[in-house]
Amino acid sequence: MCGIVGYTGKNLAVPYLIDGLSKLEYRGYDSAGVAVMENGRISVTKKSGRLSVLEKELAKHEQSTATVGIGHTRWATHGRPSDENAHPHLSENCLFAVVHNGIIENYAALKEQLESEGIHFSSQTDTEVISQLLEKNYDGSFLSSVQKTLPMLEGAYALAVLCRDEPDTVICAKKASPLVLGKSEEGIFAASDVTAVLKHTRDVYKLSDGETAVCRGASLSFYSADGKPVQKSCEHITWSAEDAQKGGYDHFMLKEIFEQPAAFAATVNQHITGGKLSFENLPLSKDEIGKLDRIVITACGSAYHTGIVGKYIFESLTRIPTEVDIASEFRYRDPILTENTLVIIISQSGETADTLAALRLAKEKGARVLSIVNVVGSTIANESDGVIYTAAGPEIAVATTKAYSTQLAVLYLLCGHFAFERGLMDADGLSRYLLELQSIPKKINEVLEANRERAKELAKLFVPLDHAYYIGRGLDFAAATEGSLKMKEISYIHSEAYAAGELKHGTISLVEKGTLIVALACHEPLFAKTMSNIREVVSRGARILAVTTDRHKDEMKDFDFVLTVPETLLPFCASLEVVVLQLLAYYASLYRGCDIDKPRNLAKSVTVE
Ligand code: GLU
Repeated sequence: MCGIVGYTGKNLAVPYLIDGLSKLEYRGYDSAGVAVMENGRISVTKKSGRLSVLEKELAKHEQSTATVGIGHTRWATHGRPSDENAHPHLSENCLFAVVHNGIIENYAALKEQLESEGIHFSSQTDTEVISQLLEKNYDGSFLSSVQKTLPMLEGAYALAVLCRDEPDTVICAKKASPLVLGKSEEGIFAASDVTAVLKHTRDVYKLSDGETAVCRGASLSFYSADGKPVQKSCEHITWSAEDAQKGGYDHFMLKEIFEQPAAFAATVNQHITGGKLSFENLPLSKDEIGKLDRIVITACGSAYHTGIVGKYIFESLTRIPTEVDIASEFRYRDPILTENTLVIIISQSGETADTLAALRLAKEKGARVLSIVNVVGSTIANESDGVIYTAAGPEIAVATTKAYSTQLAVLYLLCGHFAFERGLMDADGLSRYLLELQSIPKKINEVLEANRERAKELAKLFVPLDHAYYIGRGLDFAAATEGSLKMKEISYIHSEAYAAGELKHGTISLVEKGTLIVALACHEPLFAKTMSNIREVVSRGARILAVTTDRHKDEMKDFDFVLTVPETLLPFCASLEVVVLQLLAYYASLYRGCDIDKPRNLAKSVTVE
């Protein structure tokens, strides 16, 4: 989900494409490539690795004189990072070249159909179906081939396309992934975000979902989803390039918090069709799922916290005993694993050293290993028996938000699948479960809209604190662990999460007049129990910042501060309440003047023990 660029005009295309891609490097990528129109054909150069590797490759050949081209930095979602899987992708007869950001959810069905018609694919990407479809749908008009192809694609895309027969043209289209176009005396510039065009122009057009842009020489025209020409007005950008990278947000963390609905949707939608689940890379048959006698989830940091949610939901929905363990502990405690144990390894980067060691140990001991990672082709993904990728896209802020949310999304998918395969959920139950799961992105959006301002206000309460406490039971406790970590890692306020029922066994002695306690009460069956715990601390002088569901708002009115989230099915409640906790941590850190995106002493990917 990284960067695309395109250029048509009177200048040399390659320098613009490379410069544009370098401006998009901050988005994270694993390979890069360009395609230009040269001597009546499309010439593609693409390499796995950094942009400098691509530049070296280009330098081996005579300087290109092309004035039309497209370029890409790839963050692999389908097919490991490699030269073949890097973009641009050519169609079989080299008539079209495509760069794409996003995920084509129905690519497997499209690919099967195209292959059955004898079309030969040369990559493992979802993207290649687009170039092959364009060629198949070609009737002599570049634009009509694009217009015929787009309705066949499900999922998210920003595209830039070249066609050999119309050498002065780049066509762009988008749905759910960003794309902007800039126009100047020098020509037309297309890019995933304005940082790549700011050097050339500050007047940009933002393509809306379903729209197509035709860039021909120095002219730019737009078409609506139904193929009619549309007029668009341009926007004058006043942001600096640095602001633009953050999409107008002050920090990557805030941007990523707001990207959660899209990331969650991308993660779940690729596995759901017509109320049914499918996984390409699950190492367990129905029979083997039935025989599982234990699940062990092992991970570090926030990924470990998703495992706590996993324990609750797997045990209650699949009746498989589930343990969750910190990878650095698991790897040294000689765990007991059998061939009927499923070890679930969770890591954003897929390179976390302790988690990787836990994986190797689990395999050595004969357990089946399934990993949940965000980086395609990472070591953990490669060494596992099976992998399910989160579609969070690159996460830049050190403190995770969207990777955490998408890891939860995968656990929900797996849990529904196991419950169904073990006969504990019928087809109707599964389809209701999946329908609600698919409504979570909308509900996360509601949480963000309804709580942003209030959370910003309430975050001021944390600013003078040395300590804060998070309490909850069940799934609320699981969310509390993550909320508390978020607060401590970015605001440097010492905070702890406690199972609410455990307080009176020690920790309640810390509560005094004015102690701030974030009390989570969204786990419906335990609501009354949690309320009793909240009263216990209130009677000892604590101030309460409660997070509950809309239905309990009134019962909470005696407490100091209350934030609410929408109702959902019980297993998913942590996904909504955690968003409120992310906002509180973000704003508390902002007021304390901390370096939010790069907290002290922390690294994004922990590749040392
Ligand atoms: N899904 C495509 C791939 O894996 C595009 C990834 C991207 O947005 O960079 O190649």
